[in-house]
Amino acid sequence: MSLTIADGMVVSTHYTLTDDDANVLDSTIESEPMVYLHGAENIIPGLEDALAGKTVGDKFNVSIDAEDGYGEVLTELIEIVDISAFEGVDSVEPGMRFESENEDGGLDVIVVKHVEGNRVTIDANHPLAGLTLNFDVEVINIREASSEEIEHEHVH
Ligand code: ZN
Repeated sequence: MSLTIADGMVVSTHYTLTDDDANVLDSTIESEPMVYLHGAENIIPGLEDALAGKTVGDKFNVSIDAEDGYGEVLTELIEIVDISAFEGVDSVEPGMRFESENEDGGLDVIVVKHVEGNRVTIDANHPLAGLTLNFDVEVINIREASSEEIEHEHVH
């Protein structure tokens, strides 16, 4: 009997992610598969829903709205700060990325959008926020998670 994807399964997949203009945003094809614990919100909800019930060897395409992906772009995450916030950086330029610790202890990536004199516009939205995400997915492996993995809500 082959396993199907459900809560408590560790799932390996290869995927290619494209935007609506067919630009490849991310792909595992040339590298290791993505491995995640199903049912633990390790991945975006739209992709987790699409994977539920699939089995090894299944291939499918799914188009995920921003709402079920990385969310809409939040204007409150775009702000103007003084350049003095970038102490130690020789020249602050649009496109630069900085990591900043968030309230949950994780890291947010902040992108410099615009620099005008001492005023720097920064954006802490996820780079994929606001986008429809088109995934081309293949299920590579499924196994039952260990009790420790379930407790930790991630794959070991
Ligand atoms: Zn752990």
